[in-house]
Amino acid sequence: AKDAGKGCYAFYSPALAHRADHLMKWEQQLRVALAEGQLFLAYQPKIDLNQRCITGFEALVRWDHPQRGLIGAADFIPVAESTGLIVPIGDFVLESACRQLSLWQRQGHGSLTLAINISSVQFWRGDILDTVGRCLRDFSIPPFRLELEITETAMMEYPDLVSEKIFALKRLGVRIALDDFGTGYSSLSYLNRFAVDTLKVDKSFIQAIPHDRSVCVMVSAIIGLARSLGLTVVVEGTETEEQIAWLASVGRVEAQGYLFSRPVPASEIAGLIERFGVC
Ligand code: C2E
Ligand code: CA
Ligand code: CA
Ligand code: CA
Repeated sequence: AKDAGKGCYAFYSPALAHRADHLMKWEQQLRVALAEGQLFLAYQPKIDLNQRCITGFEALVRWDHPQRGLIGAADFIPVAESTGLIVPIGDFVLESACRQLSLWQRQGHGSLTLAINISSVQFWRGDILDTVGRCLRDFSIPPFRLELEITETAMMEYPDLVSEKIFALKRLGVRIALDDFGTGYSSLSYLNRFAVDTLKVDKSFIQAIPHDRSVCVMVSAIIGLARSLGLTVVVEGTETEEQIAWLASVGRVEAQGYLFSRPVPASEIAGLIERFGVC
């Protein structure tokens, strides 16, 4: 239907019927994927640019589809969110992350942190405090090794409730990262108010460095302010030596991006640790 917009006609739109159908098909397959262990985590290292060692990893979910092969998060997280399947998927991610953290502890890499992405659907559920708390206890994880990444857009929905929820999570001892910073409408003053530990500067900014002058000015101001507030700064999507050189000259940041490594399966973590070392 042409330009159904937000109108009621959308009910009769064949396009929408098709979409609903499509959604149901994917929902069913995603349910099977979860039940049959087709989902797994890929790990991307964060590198301290001064010392060139690994501070920790971000876990990113992947789907090893029996017919279609590897499917990236961007292609099924939206389906998971609109069907509610993000909740059991989020539980799976959390538990896998805690298991990995406890493995690192036993391997003598107890200083590594692991960040996981929390969808806003999951964030607003009443039981997130319980599930996170239980996971930390069950696997005997020092809470500050686990970082929860929440997107800037999700945080802007209900600023007052958000800060309450974040403080409750912080009382568990976990770290909070503000993800995709710069893509939403938050002002820098929110950084203080939400008491986040880490700021992740969105890759759309990093990719304009060092050629776009105004982006450079903005990014260096963001890094300066965040650092003076005592936050850890992670720059996402670093792909070139040029970007790294410029960022390292601006301030103390951690970099995550294809230049150092793509997200890798758990089996390749040891190789990365050998190559870069743990900070
Ligand atoms: P995000 O949290 O912003 O994750 C970073 C994305 O950038 C990842 O895509 C990562 O593979 C990609 N990336 C890393 N380095 C580079 C680089 O140098 N260049 C470019 N162009 N991209 C880079 P991915 O894994 O496809 O994830 C997409 C989004 O899906 C994530 O964005 C996150 O919002 C969501 N997501 C991923 N895993 C999970 C999860 O376990 N739970 C939830 N709720 N969301 C997840
Ligand atoms: Ca993230
Ligand atoms: Ca991000
Ligand atoms: Ca994102």
